Amino acid sequence: MKIGVLSYQGDVSEHMDAVRATGNEPVAVKSVSSLQTVGGLILPGGESTCQGKLLVRFGLDEPIRARIYEGMPVFGTCTGAILLAKEIEGSSQPRLGTMDILIARNAFGAQVDSFETDMHIKGITDDPNYGIGPFRAFFIRAPLIRHAGPHVDVMATYDGNIVLARQGNMLACSFHPEMGEDLRVHMYFAGMVEDFLSKKKEAVG
Ligand code: GLN
Repeated sequence: MKIGVLSYQGDVSEHMDAVRATGNEPVAVKSVSSLQTVGGLILPGGESTCQGKLLVRFGLDEPIRARIYEGMPVFGTCTGAILLAKEIEGSSQPRLGTMDILIARNAFGAQVDSFETDMHIKGITDDPNYGIGPFRAFFIRAPLIRHAGPHVDVMATYDGNIVLARQGNMLACSFHPEMGEDLRVHMYFAGMVEDFLSKKKEAVG
């Protein structure tokens, strides 16, 4: 399967490597034509005002929104989660705004307060298909999800704060799953892409 990685800025090559390691084909997405070739899209960590402005400047915001509404799975990590959020605390910066979450940027403090921790992820670290056991999560000047709407499924929390959540075809996490060796979150996302593509195939007949 072809899985895109938005390639303006940030942790692009790490996600491309992780996608490859799950046995899928990573595609650098910078244009509408490359966006149309993929079955799912990862929005990498980086800097959200920068990436949001570039999305608008290069006219990719509306086409990505259209694909999300069509059902294409999207996975926002850190900055990517900020771009997915309908609301960003205290900010009107450009975003996709498709997911019913309120997010707070830099909620764990400054860059020097970045940290790593083991965490439980519902539907992943408790599922023998992925492998039971905690997931090492890397938080780098991370945001947190302050509030999630009724259709959002909370999959992981840290200190009582939401750090990984899913709403239908949208997955958003505060941390960086591409930084370690553990591929389970990328495998979970690849599963979402597989479901989407097989449903599409059924619909075509
Ligand atoms: N602090 C960054 C922002 O607000 C996100 C950091 C990250 O993606 N690691 O955009």
